[in-house]
Amino acid sequence: MVDTVSREKRSQIMKAVRRQSTGAERAVRSALHRMGYRFRLHASELPGSPDIVFRPTKKVVFVHGCFWHGHRNCGRVPKSNVDYWVSKITRNRKRDAAARSKLRRIGWRSLVVWECELKNLPQLKARLERFLTAI
Ligand SMILES: [Zn+2]
Repeated sequence: MVDTVSREKRSQIMKAVRRQSTGAERAVRSALHRMGYRFRLHASELPGSPDIVFRPTKKVVFVHGCFWHGHRNCGRVPKSNVDYWVSKITRNRKRDAAARSKLRRIGWRSLVVWECELKNLPQLKARLERFLTAI
């Protein structure tokens, strides 16, 4: 495989993508606050360190960047280093799935919010509401 992006450039790209997904997480948190929900952040003791945690009801929300976590049929596909990205994103997807099944086994329910869902905030809020009010 020919490496067309320098290590330095790649690390810049990764940092930029990470900032973006943090922005998505902040947007979801503030939507939840406006909906009147209170929650904790980054429960590192739970599988997958969920981003948003509703402890009393044992529910968690993951906010996933579409690129990093491999949202199907969504977003751009990198044109260079395809092998690198495919294996990295595949690993992320497997890790996400493993974390969610571990959570299920210990009685926690999880919801994945994709970054792209923020484009339709009313619909996203309705989805969060359904998840959080379900018994
Ligand atoms: Zn997406």
